[in-house]
Amino acid sequence: MQGLMMQQPLLVASLLAHAERHHGGQEIVSRRVEGDIHRYRYRDLAQRARRMANVLEGLGVKPGERVGTLAWNGYRHMELYFAVSGSGSVLHTLNPRLHVDQLAYIIEHAEDRVVFFDATFLPLIESVAPRVKSPKVFVAMTDRAHMPQANDLTGMLMCYEDLLELHDDVFEWPLLDENSASSLCYTSGTTGNPKGVLYSHRSTLLHTYAAALPDSLNCSARDVILPVVPMFHVNAWGLPYIACMVGAKLVFPGPALDGKSLYELIEAEQVTLSAGVPTVWQGLLTHVGERQETFASMRRTIIGGAPCPTAMTAQFQERYQVDVLHAWGMTELSPVGTVCSFKPHQLSLSTEERYTVQAKQGRSVFGIDMKIVGPDGEALPWDGHAAGDLLVRGQWVTRQYFGAGDGDASPLRDGWFPTGDVAKIDPDGFMQITDRSKDVIKSGGEWISSTDIENVACLHPEVATAVCIAARHPKWDERPLLLIVKKPGSALGGGEMLAFFDGRVAKWWTPDAVVFVESVPLGATGKVLKNQLRDQYRDYYLSA
Ligand code: AMP
Repeated sequence: MQGLMMQQPLLVASLLAHAERHHGGQEIVSRRVEGDIHRYRYRDLAQRARRMANVLEGLGVKPGERVGTLAWNGYRHMELYFAVSGSGSVLHTLNPRLHVDQLAYIIEHAEDRVVFFDATFLPLIESVAPRVKSPKVFVAMTDRAHMPQANDLTGMLMCYEDLLELHDDVFEWPLLDENSASSLCYTSGTTGNPKGVLYSHRSTLLHTYAAALPDSLNCSARDVILPVVPMFHVNAWGLPYIACMVGAKLVFPGPALDGKSLYELIEAEQVTLSAGVPTVWQGLLTHVGERQETFASMRRTIIGGAPCPTAMTAQFQERYQVDVLHAWGMTELSPVGTVCSFKPHQLSLSTEERYTVQAKQGRSVFGIDMKIVGPDGEALPWDGHAAGDLLVRGQWVTRQYFGAGDGDASPLRDGWFPTGDVAKIDPDGFMQITDRSKDVIKSGGEWISSTDIENVACLHPEVATAVCIAARHPKWDERPLLLIVKKPGSALGGGEMLAFFDGRVAKWWTPDAVVFVESVPLGATGKVLKNQLRDQYRDYYLSA
């Protein structure tokens, strides 16, 4: 027997419609790339998003086509989040920290029809434009007075505010299939070329419900939320959608992510909840500590993307009375998978014991199922000791990467997504990452491909073998370390080797140091035993 309830598709635009209707007066505050603070309300956001939907139609963007954004966290980016997905096309957030070759690859692969960009990214757009066949329209997200000079984009450059002026705000959000695509985000969190994760309206809405819950990211209408995590990195962990669902005030930091700028914004706007990677919080804590400041309103901070060190948790909680919510997720998971919020019996633990809990990445939010498996694929016990490959499944987990052909293998293993993380799970269901099986480096919350670094190093005529590994770093969590076996008779020095990366990879991808070694350990099949090298050199930068 069928249930007799209404069938309402789960659509991204419904979040905005709800926010306009029920929280229309709630504020959205943005630090702009133009340098000033901008403020308006959800009802303005909704009205301008509808105008923008008309702009997209005017530009000829069709349902299902991709629209790129290369932008910081700000209100215009938020307008595009809803205008693009809401009107049936696909919001493709581009990561400006990538090398221009990678950006060009991703834009081509996604076949973006139009790319919107913050004016500060003009040089990047000018480098990318000649390398891609499409798009032929680039929209600077600013007004006429701040339009950048772009000689190389003649005929292709448009102005965001001018386009909005040309259209009215009468637009009916179409009743889309809830399984249609809403947004796209590429990740280099595996080896090989970046891969696109294509979210649907349904997966986004279900993720929003689950991520907003009290034991998840714990968001409400009484919160003032500062997403420091970029809107180009897994939709700022879903916070733009969550804020609409619950009616929270939003504060966007724009490009100013240094400790001083963040602190000033937090205090001026009375932020209650912030979210970001450990590296960003390190900058904030240093600034606040040096000036002996306190936080007047901030009560919670969500820390994820990389392990949150206990020293950071302790500092936030003891010195500033800001509770830390340690969370784990992935681009492939929209991203929230686990959050470390206490169960009732843990509240009576000693402070030290609670820090031990908080060092874990947390327990599953409803909708995400997880397991750990050994080398034979058998599930391991949740005893807090056995560690194995972490696999997940759920309503907002990817089942195939964007653009994969019929012949392409699914990333799934028996219906489960292998995360590339190695973890243990305790009897309370708290997961803790112990290692990583994927061969990548996460520096300041963003990926560096060790394979790409090795491939570049091997282009040097005096390099016999190059191995790049992740070494722990006090500021960036991890930085690449390059191990080189030189060709016989070579006098190659570290400086020359590192200079070789100039222009070949993004500047921040260049390893911090080179260690010249006689040989590297090889396995039976001739593969470099990276685990051995990681064990040996893991603390290289800490002891340097
Ligand atoms: P991304 O897809 O760029 O968001 O990266 C996801 C990956 O970042 C995960 O698979 C982990 O390897 C890592 N990661 C995310 N959150 C955490 C965390 N809290 N602790 C340790 N690693 C994390």
